[in-house]
Amino acid sequence: MTMRLSILGSTGSVGRSALAVVDYANSVSDEPAFEIEALTAFRDAERLAKQAISFDAKIAVIGDEGAYAELRERLAGTGIEAACGAKAISEAAERPVDRVLAAIVGIAGLESTHAALTVGNSVALANKESMVCAGPLLKQIALKSGAAIVPTDSEHNAMFQVMERAEDVETLILTASGGPFLNTPKARLSSVTPDEACAHPQWSMGRKISVDSATFMNKGLELIEAAYLFDMPEDRIDVLVHPQSIIHSLVSYRDGSVLAQLGLPDMQTPISHALSWPKRRQPTNVRRLNLPEIGRLDFQPVDPDRFPAIGLARAALREGPAATIVLNCANEVAVAAFLEGKCQFTDISWIVERALQHGLATAKSPAEQSLGDVIELDRRGRHLCEELVAHAAGQARSRAQ
Ligand code: NAD
Ligand code: MG
Repeated sequence: MTMRLSILGSTGSVGRSALAVVDYANSVSDEPAFEIEALTAFRDAERLAKQAISFDAKIAVIGDEGAYAELRERLAGTGIEAACGAKAISEAAERPVDRVLAAIVGIAGLESTHAALTVGNSVALANKESMVCAGPLLKQIALKSGAAIVPTDSEHNAMFQVMERAEDVETLILTASGGPFLNTPKARLSSVTPDEACAHPQWSMGRKISVDSATFMNKGLELIEAAYLFDMPEDRIDVLVHPQSIIHSLVSYRDGSVLAQLGLPDMQTPISHALSWPKRRQPTNVRRLNLPEIGRLDFQPVDPDRFPAIGLARAALREGPAATIVLNCANEVAVAAFLEGKCQFTDISWIVERALQHGLATAKSPAEQSLGDVIELDRRGRHLCEELVAHAAGQARSRAQ
């Protein structure tokens, strides 16, 4: 049976992997495994139009109004509808489909994820920041509408694949590749460049998540994502560095069994699983795992001194939902500033730590989250964090003088 899909963020790293999954599965089956309803992107009208034409989408939506004329021009005469703006992206997410892949980066993906779930569209969730900022709300909305949230982040998809009875689970074990600075001395970390931070040893990804992997904040965000997705307290989620990225995560049960999902580090595998679940697995052309060739799998603990991000994420999770919103927002602002050369790599966790000490993060969260509350807190947090970035930049200038 053909599954209808919409892909939000189709021009990004996850979006492109998803279209590769669709392309291959369709090429090897008699009837199409997948059909595309909507594709969305932020600015890249050229790539979006090409994708929409080659996958015969019904609608293509661009976030940035400045790129709308180009999108319309490129789609003229194709019969594919064009639209623009954040509201149009959310409307595209509401079109009835079998699965919406949420692959926008950052809290910018929250409204469309929320919109899809509200109307009952099941969501393959790659956009971890929406779970970090609004996990309780998204789960409640999904419960109400009957939509599924299918974990697509590779670690969470791995745990989901080996999750039996949740009541029998003792701990979740998130694996981390360690990123490009796993063995970099602490003193060197303040002078690393954005390009060095984005040169991930195992995964090819967008720049924001690549920096998150380098600081270990990606694992911090994933710890919060796992806690919300699987209803697991922070002290029952462990993080383990596993540089080869073959074991994508593990679930430990009360009878002593530990179940893991393995594969080469290629997002096409978890994406394919999340798009087709609970139906049969679709074939992919990812390289197959050859364990004798790999020879050994290594593991080590995280060094909290060089990488404080996981400790910050644990503290935010213990504090409550307002703190996880502020943590995410501080991290988004700080990573953008680092990528623009406005602050140092080590300032990122400093900014997050300071933001978490602020009253915004420690204020009591309302018993029930609303989308408006989350967005408003993020907006106020951004204002605070811009000031922290300016402070960090000022300190760097005075150190340099
Ligand atoms: P990316 O930067 O490569 O792509 C982001 C996509 O979102 C692009 O299509 C872009 O046009 C769109 N976008 C960006 N800002 C937008 C906005 N304001 N409004 C609308 N659309 C916008 O990012 P990515 O690496 O593909 O990551 C996407 C998400 O998936 C992130 O949340 C990331 O943490 C998560 N994720 C990524 C990977 C990976 O391997 N890349 C793995 C696991 C999870
Ligand atoms: Mg991941």
